[in-house]
Amino acid sequence: MEETTSKLSGRVALVTGAASGLGKEIAMTFARAGASVAVADLNGDGAEVVASEIRGFGGNAIGVKMDVTDEDAVNTATDSVVAALGSVDVLVSNAGIQIVSPISEFSFSDWRKVQSIHVDGAFLTTKAALRHMYKDDRGGVVIYMGSVHSHLASPLKSAYVTAKHALLGLSRTLAKEGAAHNVRSHVVCPGFVRTPLVEKQIPEQAKELGMSEEDVVKNVMLGGTVDGIFTTVEDIAQTTLFLAAFPTAALTGQSFVVSHGWFMQ
Ligand code: NAD
Repeated sequence: MEETTSKLSGRVALVTGAASGLGKEIAMTFARAGASVAVADLNGDGAEVVASEIRGFGGNAIGVKMDVTDEDAVNTATDSVVAALGSVDVLVSNAGIQIVSPISEFSFSDWRKVQSIHVDGAFLTTKAALRHMYKDDRGGVVIYMGSVHSHLASPLKSAYVTAKHALLGLSRTLAKEGAAHNVRSHVVCPGFVRTPLVEKQIPEQAKELGMSEEDVVKNVMLGGTVDGIFTTVEDIAQTTLFLAAFPTAALTGQSFVVSHGWFMQ
């Protein structure tokens, strides 16, 4: 193992969208912290690659193909994780996409696709995990991947901003309902992180906004930060680990913004 920390020793974590970007780093970080990790993704082969990377450094992980928008697939995959690893103690609902367009031109099918992956996906994975977390009130922690866009808006991102705001509502409701069963919930809200999701947006936004790609990065993406620096996958993984390992409901129903001061609450 690369690290010897054992903050999540004996715990089972299911991370969605974990074949890439933030989800991948969270899965690796949790495994280094001693968790058994289910690496879940629509891209089943990619999930297996990450799981085998984890096993390569001595961690315990399985790859799971899961489309978070499909109720049967989510239930079956979650049950298979419990069968293989024993439980689900931590759910990180992280799978997501971005589609940029002005509201006046946003196609309804694209709108629905964004809501479906972010909002339906969060609901379905939560519901599937709760069936296990509520059993004998064993409890658990659910962490949603929100965004600075859970708190503020940007042009061209109506569907994403709406979906990321919705996660605050789901998380806060779960914090209230789950307390009696020892379940806590949070939303982690990153600023811009250079993952494939963001790399794709740079040329798209440059085109829509009539700017150079350099200006999109400097002014649109990082213009509101205190230091012009991207948030990193490690920043988000460490924050998520802290919340997953925190032992009591002193912290529940909260939103944690990790954004170089872009949004302050
Ligand atoms: P990414 O594109 O690198 O990874 C997203 C993963 O989600 C991919 O592996 C993809 O296959 C998977 N996925 C997509 N649809 C799915 C589905 N229906 N079911 C299961 N998996 C699916 O993106 P990322 O930047 O790592 O984003 C992860 C999360 O973080 C998203 O929710 C995103 O909105 C959020 N986020 C990202 C940033 C950023 O700057 N990168 C900032 C704030 C929030």
